Amino acid sequence: MLNTIKFIVLALLSFAFPFANAQDTLVIIKSGHIQKSEIFELIYVPVEIPEGINSISVKEIYNHGEGDEKNVLNMGIYDTRGFEIGNPKGFRGWSGGAKTSFFINNSAASTGYIAGPIYPGLWNILIYPSDISDAGIDWTLEIKAVKGREANLFKPNPAQSTINEIPGWYHGDLHMHTLHSDGKRTAQELVEEAHAKKLDFIISTEHNTNSANLSWGKYNSKHLLIINGVEVTSTKFGHWNAIGLTGDNYIDWRYAPEEGWIIKMVEKVHQDNGLAIINHPFYNIQRTNNFKYDDNLFDGVEVWNGNWNLLNNLAVEWWGERLIAGHRLIAIGASDTHVIEGSPNNLGTPQSVVYAESLSKDDLIKGIKNGKVYIRANDSIKIVFEARSGNEKAMLGDTLKIGKDKYSFTIDIHIENCKKQKLKIYSNLGFFKEAMLNSDEEDLTFQINDSNIKFLRVEIRSEEDNMLALTNPIYISY
Ligand SMILES: [Zn+2]
Ligand SMILES: [Zn+2]
Repeated sequence: MLNTIKFIVLALLSFAFPFANAQDTLVIIKSGHIQKSEIFELIYVPVEIPEGINSISVKEIYNHGEGDEKNVLNMGIYDTRGFEIGNPKGFRGWSGGAKTSFFINNSAASTGYIAGPIYPGLWNILIYPSDISDAGIDWTLEIKAVKGREANLFKPNPAQSTINEIPGWYHGDLHMHTLHSDGKRTAQELVEEAHAKKLDFIISTEHNTNSANLSWGKYNSKHLLIINGVEVTSTKFGHWNAIGLTGDNYIDWRYAPEEGWIIKMVEKVHQDNGLAIINHPFYNIQRTNNFKYDDNLFDGVEVWNGNWNLLNNLAVEWWGERLIAGHRLIAIGASDTHVIEGSPNNLGTPQSVVYAESLSKDDLIKGIKNGKVYIRANDSIKIVFEARSGNEKAMLGDTLKIGKDKYSFTIDIHIENCKKQKLKIYSNLGFFKEAMLNSDEEDLTFQINDSNIKFLRVEIRSEEDNMLALTNPIYISY
């Protein structure tokens, strides 16, 4: 069980070499064995930190193996303020399987970890096996605690929450990684790339840590809105993005779907005016939906992750079925970029275009929440999708209200830079209409007289059926 909190203090070997060397360094060695049957167990290794310590470092040693005999031992740490699920106070960082060592001191920390006071008392290192070979994992943690005190205590500096007050369509990327989790670029490199690509916003979504969110203020500018998020990552039960968080909010991942925690965590996101988005639901080779939490709790779903592929197609189909079933999940697309170049997940591919009353965290999140979003493969594509009936008008995400006596309404679709591609329209009844786009700027109008139509949404696909853009629905009420 994932939720089993297993103390291995009795089974492990523990040694401490108190302040033996000139730098007043206390070395603590912990070691143990994890059997194959213990996969996905949360293993907390307690470490007593004495008074007067300024810096701790942890080194994780185990045989990584390879192929079917691969071992992955994820790692994180909690301070004396506690490690219970739902108590974020003691959380001091997580590097998953991306690092095998880290440090934390008063003023600085490894990426993924949170600098600040090194409180004396009981800390807990969390190790979490997500791959175990037949032989199991023999592991050792070497903890060094160094005496001293530095003057400059780390102060969080989260990003500004407003760039301008201008209403409009803003494009950006909602899912990305840096060295703060398993990405291969620095925060600065990510920001420089976002500027070079002229994105209006990016949402920081590191795996199971908010460490990046605490320092985005360094990169405040007049052009780029940086929004805080966390990719709540459970290897066993699926990934979801908590977006639109305040800088110091942390959303826990350590619970199974049948526990009540997921409800509390989504509530915590909503208290920040944030959104909970299901990520890449079909991101596995079995092509099954690997998201095990109740999708009814979530605001949206990432139907398009990185370059278009069959798994994304499955996600779009699943989303379409959920819409028909009456669950108004918002569709978003994002790159999930991990490296600067050469990955199928380049920053801004795909991107989400959002209508917001201002370029600010709250208005952008509100735009997404209201379904005022379409997704496109690149920034040359433009879609304007509207519906009207009499004096009533509706844009993406809106509900068009039609008088009881008349069932007729009109939809207008303006599309740029999709020449020779296919426009496909879907409704709650399934596939509705298809048309070829013959020019770089195309305006299409359809008259609809069918009171069974409850929503309409648009896709643009290539001849090979690859997605180029898709919109959220306009809803119709009679
Ligand atoms: Zn993910
Ligand atoms: Zn990701």
